[in-house]
Amino acid sequence: IDLQTFTHASVSKQGDKYWFFEKSEESFPGQTFGLEISRILYHTESPFQDILIFESTTFGNVLVLNGIVQCTEKDEFAYQELITHLPIMSHPSPKKVLVIGGGDCGVIRELVKHVEDNTVESITMVEIDDMVIKLSTKFLPNMAKYHNHPKVNLRIEDGFKFLKETTEKFDVIITDSSDPEGPAEEFFQVNYFKLLLNALAKKGIVIMQSSENIWLNIDYLKDLLVKARIVFKNVAYSQCYMPSYTSGQLGLVIATNDEEKTLQTPLRRFSEEKESQIFQYYSSEIHSASFVLPKWAKNKLDL
Ligand code: SAM
Repeated sequence: IDLQTFTHASVSKQGDKYWFFEKSEESFPGQTFGLEISRILYHTESPFQDILIFESTTFGNVLVLNGIVQCTEKDEFAYQELITHLPIMSHPSPKKVLVIGGGDCGVIRELVKHVEDNTVESITMVEIDDMVIKLSTKFLPNMAKYHNHPKVNLRIEDGFKFLKETTEKFDVIITDSSDPEGPAEEFFQVNYFKLLLNALAKKGIVIMQSSENIWLNIDYLKDLLVKARIVFKNVAYSQCYMPSYTSGQLGLVIATNDEEKTLQTPLRRFSEEKESQIFQYYSSEIHSASFVLPKWAKNKLDL
């Protein structure tokens, strides 16, 4: 795609360079995260969302949905590893795992590490937009490589609808969705937490990306935690360094109805040597540390 003739609300020319700027009046008015573009790799309007993929000069290939960065090749592992290994390593025996969203397939890549370890036995992924999977296979090959794995059951449908209809019970449910503006809107409501609980096995654990974080909109985050606590007795908030998300940080809400569980402490640990072999971000140390918040945020969020 010729950059000089390409038009998109998030792409503009600054001097003789082309830049992507992530803007959201709703979520982060008055600030933006920018990346210099070397090439536009693909752009389309799927039935669900605007999909833009470009090559940046510093963060590798970048997937953008509705103008919001989903992942970059440089730092995607931080998000994928934390959202996956926090619940898996907190559960005594996570055999059945459900992923809602997750089209870039990075979470599946991480879950397969636990299949190889004989812990996870089946992975169901429910993604609404198969275009995201197809494009990720082509442009994010290090992420989208295991969606055809024999233990993966891939379903192309609305995750909300799937949860309403399913009679299956899962040990871990990971909501790896896009932000509320778009097809993921319903995921940030009490009703969604109720559906999660309904599909959860006894002592099961859920985790979701919170869309906001302590710097962007702490009031929204507080509200999301209140909603989670209406349904779950044990709710915690974990955060991750993420330079490619506006404000440099990603937040995760993790919850269970097992009141005895300390989500902050991993139940299972690998040796340091094994951690270095299979992880780039996660470790049992990071697991606990990711829950430690600055004072004002801890007080504000009642944690
Ligand atoms: N790491 C990401 C981020 O920045 O938040 C999320 C990654 S993943 C690309 C998000 C996926 O959620 C997208 O592929 C999107 O199509 C999917 N999604 C959004 N709404 C959905 C729904 N209602 N049901 C299933 N999948 C949905």
